[in-house]
Amino acid sequence: MNRSSYSPTISIAPNGDLQCVRCDHVLASAGTSWKQSVNRVDQPMHSLCEIYDTGSDEVIIRRFYCPSCGTALESETVLVDEATIDDEVHAR
Ligand SMILES: [Zn+2]
Repeated sequence: MNRSSYSPTISIAPNGDLQCVRCDHVLASAGTSWKQSVNRVDQPMHSLCEIYDTGSDEVIIRRFYCPSCGTALESETVLVDEATIDDEVHAR
């Protein structure tokens, strides 16, 4: 299959679908938000390690995982009530 890379863990199929690099599971159709269709875990930064303690429960790490194989796809550090950072991906 001819795919291009979106990230080390996500590829773009010729039809624009986003797929997990490890198991080829389709994470999202072309033009839709992939982060809405995968598994997500939110965790306060201070729970990771003392060095990441920001002194607030408001700062979290949000992790996204493939719902098929569990591969960690991406993470973002955001405020707890902040919307997910959506990336727009377009096939060439
Ligand atoms: Zn996968």
